[in-house]
Amino acid sequence: MNLSKRVVSFHYTLTNQEGEVIDTSKDSDAFSYLEGSGQIIPGLERAMVLLSVGDKKKIEVAAKDAYGEQDQELILQVPKSKLPNSDSLEIGDQFQARGPNEEMLMFRVIGVEGEDATLDGNHPLAGEDLIFDVEVTAVRDATAEEVAHGHAHGAGGHHH
Ligand code: ZN
Repeated sequence: MNLSKRVVSFHYTLTNQEGEVIDTSKDSDAFSYLEGSGQIIPGLERAMVLLSVGDKKKIEVAAKDAYGEQDQELILQVPKSKLPNSDSLEIGDQFQARGPNEEMLMFRVIGVEGEDATLDGNHPLAGEDLIFDVEVTAVRDATAEEVAHGHAHGAGGHHH
């Protein structure tokens, strides 16, 4: 067991290439993650490894290192009758279903036409190059329990 892993807490504001704010931690606790556990997207974690408490940095993450490129195989047309609440189906509705590789995915309704609906199983940020403005607020050694669980505990982390 590697006990030298760090738990990093940081505030962030996430914007897309158009400068639109997609998400921010400013109104809540700093987000805490356990390094090397896949809690944050790979491109962000690679850049964050180099940061210490108090560091502020603008980190650009290409789509492939963020939520991946758009996968056309995950855009499907299906009969509305196969979906839950088919009578009141609206664009933006979401539900879980199995993807082509049997994995559970969150599908969004992106079109409704006659008897058919178009579903998109890509992450809403797939294909987007992202910009994170980050400020590291705390760094500490992970506890043995956090390493065993694969996530950070405490403020901004995982609560059981
Ligand atoms: Zn835990």
